[in-house]
Amino acid sequence: MSSLTAFPWQDGVAALDPLSVQVCLGIVTVTLLILSGASYRRTRSASAGWWCVSLLLFMAGRSTLLFCDPTWLAWACHVGMALMVAGVFCIWAGARAVCGREGHPWPIPVAAGIAAVCSFLENPFTDLWSGGFAYLGLMLAGMTMATVEFWFAPSERARATRLVATTAGLTAAYFLARWLSYAAEGAAGEDFKRYFGPAPAGVVFLVLLITASFSMSNLSHEQLHDKLRRRAEKDHLTGLLNRGAFLDLAGAVLSRAETKASGAALILADLDHFKAINDDYGHAAGDAALKAFAKACSASVRSSDVLGRYGGEEFIALLPGASQQRAEEIASEISDRLAATEGPNGMPLPTVSYGVTSSTGGWVDLAFMISVADAALYSAKAQGRDRVVGDRAPHAAPDSLAREGQP
Ligand code: GH3
Ligand code: MG
Ligand code: MG
Repeated sequence: MSSLTAFPWQDGVAALDPLSVQVCLGIVTVTLLILSGASYRRTRSASAGWWCVSLLLFMAGRSTLLFCDPTWLAWACHVGMALMVAGVFCIWAGARAVCGREGHPWPIPVAAGIAAVCSFLENPFTDLWSGGFAYLGLMLAGMTMATVEFWFAPSERARATRLVATTAGLTAAYFLARWLSYAAEGAAGEDFKRYFGPAPAGVVFLVLLITASFSMSNLSHEQLHDKLRRRAEKDHLTGLLNRGAFLDLAGAVLSRAETKASGAALILADLDHFKAINDDYGHAAGDAALKAFAKACSASVRSSDVLGRYGGEEFIALLPGASQQRAEEIASEISDRLAATEGPNGMPLPTVSYGVTSSTGGWVDLAFMISVADAALYSAKAQGRDRVVGDRAPHAAPDSLAREGQP
């Protein structure tokens, strides 16, 4: 055998006992299935679920190789191939779930069916590799489709999905080489047996399955983390940022160089006599009014503005780059939108008072802007409510704020 190979390790790979490799692969797959199942129970992520189904199908598919005596060969071969192809297309379905594109996964049964039919039509009674060309082509197609989906997944999870995409891409590359080698010399070819036969392929799959399981678990934990973070940042009633998330994001926006250069405006809004709505129409009607106001705010500001629910019936918006005059116009626009909205069961929606402030650039402290807007809002209430009162923030922060660590 050494005369066939240029390197001693090639002999090693070629000399691997296929059955031992399959048994090892089976044990590792079962272990990964248990670990991935536990991870799915924790994260409930669709991609982790699809990965578990894939592992199950791979395990079932590869275990058919144990039945390769002539009595069983006829069905073991095409059933095994169909299961393996279905497993690869489940990885593709999992990749689509990561991108939020879960449609009907019809390519799974179609691809598995094609693999089974091709295998059955060729020579299933005598040849373990019956339908091998279609099988390897479909495995390559499924893996390539999964690689593309993972690679172009939404950018906020780019780090985790690129790792999975790389693993899927390496598997696709291995299948491409395997497919080309099979097309060139068939399953009996020396090179095919040495590099792509059941034993070397088993070793490659062992490494790839472990890497893929680790990256998929990473990915589903990152998805869970994102979901929890989004939930923790949102106000459940209105869908706007809650107070803490607003303060974090607005502080970060204010410290950006472009905001320092262009300045920013801040609007603080408080619904008028809101307690009377709860008292007269009930808490649910009050909630509907809060939602209607949040909707009017979202429709009036730009996507780059930061909008939040500051407390009970108080809302806040930071408008980077907006002038004092523009911010006051936006506040009036919000009230016009709310006035044009119909309340639940004919209930009149409340009027709103606003305090608006702005800075023309340089360093601005968020807490300082909020305190100026709050004083303006208080003035709007004192003047009879349903109005916008503006107070441009002094350009420089008071000494006490400037001493708190900003240049
Ligand atoms: P003003 O014009 O002076 O602002 O009077 P107001 O009645 O709007 O202000 P007040 O602070 O007296 O009352 C605010 C009310 O908002 C009291 C509270 O029950 C109600 N509220 C706070 N959060 C919610 C909520 O999530 N849903 C509902 N329905 N009501 C809320
Ligand atoms: Mg209030
Ligand atoms: Mg109020």
